[in-house]
Amino acid sequence: MASYNLFLLPGDGIGPEVMKEVEAIIAWFNAEGIARFEVDRGLVGGSAYDAHGQAISEADMAKAMASDAVLFGAVGGPKWDKVPYDVRPEAGLLRLRKDLGLFANLRPAICYPALADASSLKREVVEGLDILIVRELTGGVYFGEPKTITDLGNGQKRGIDTQVYETYEIERIARVAFDLAKTRRNKVSSAEKRNVMKTGVLWNEIVTRIHAAEYPGVQLEHVLADNCAMQLVRWPKQYDVIVTDNLFGDVLSDVAAMLTGSLGMLPSASLGAPDAKTGRRKSLYEPVHGSAPDIAGTGAANPIAMIASFGMALRYSLGLGDWADKLDQAIAAVLAQGIRTKDIAGSQPANATTTQMGAAILGEL
Ligand code: ATP
Ligand code: MG
Repeated sequence: MASYNLFLLPGDGIGPEVMKEVEAIIAWFNAEGIARFEVDRGLVGGSAYDAHGQAISEADMAKAMASDAVLFGAVGGPKWDKVPYDVRPEAGLLRLRKDLGLFANLRPAICYPALADASSLKREVVEGLDILIVRELTGGVYFGEPKTITDLGNGQKRGIDTQVYETYEIERIARVAFDLAKTRRNKVSSAEKRNVMKTGVLWNEIVTRIHAAEYPGVQLEHVLADNCAMQLVRWPKQYDVIVTDNLFGDVLSDVAAMLTGSLGMLPSASLGAPDAKTGRRKSLYEPVHGSAPDIAGTGAANPIAMIASFGMALRYSLGLGDWADKLDQAIAAVLAQGIRTKDIAGSQPANATTTQMGAAILGEL
């Protein structure tokens, strides 16, 4: 049985509350002899700042670098609104993304049948939805130079952001998308705007080339990003894997998220390049939601986003895809039984706390 190092960074607010439910599941995997998970824990965000004045310590960064998967809760809260900019809670997450080279951000949008009525769209449009957005995370217009605001001296200013992509950046994100599609419904939709952007022309060219050379068995379609946004709210089930750049991925993944209901349901994964020797990728798994200071300490936090993030770790980093499926089925079963934290209870009162929801899912597993 392969052994894996998990590094847990619960963070602030509800981060530690939802992480506790994942820890119970990890302990169960170990106790049942299904896996050998070595678990270590560190501090990130406001809790790290309170302990030693940094958003993450060098020692914890080293542990994250040496781990097979980082499980990240959430950071921030009003308590740290006034701390200096470079040690603000979010700086810990940005440092992790940068140093681990996490260039591929995976955000599934899954609609559990029991929650289909919580979507902003009609039940028939979202029921059974299972799509995966693969967003390039370390390049593009958020990082390209020049990035400036210049005073033109005549009462006018000029703002410049620059979209830059190089061949290798598009090649590696395309490979991630095609590899994932092979484990799913075998279809990739590549979204760009080649009609108005040179980076879109290049994106299209390179995705086409990687497809022909390495993944001819996967179905590939090219879609203009604005059309993709429209299609996502018209008939999202036409998609399997959508691969796109940093900016379009930011927008499209939020659109997709809202198809499925609550923020408390949405997991994510961020992956780096495979290690030359072991083939293992650096990776970080986190819920899409933040630290939710408004409900921290009340037991109202929904742990499903964090638990489903661990499910993604099982699938993509820990060699236990079959158990990832079982975990998803356990979540679906618990929802079908009508167990609800407050965020997914609709007009009914909630009937489960964070701990009760976690225990119900583990029980089902
Ligand atoms: P961040 O900037 O860290 O992403 P945010 O301002 O986007 O934070 P969140 O912390 O994600 O906000 O919270 C937004 C709203 O969603 C809050 O009202 C919060 O209580 C609710 N919420 C977030 N996560 C959960 C959860 N897991 N369970 C229940 N409610 C949640
Ligand atoms: Mg947010």
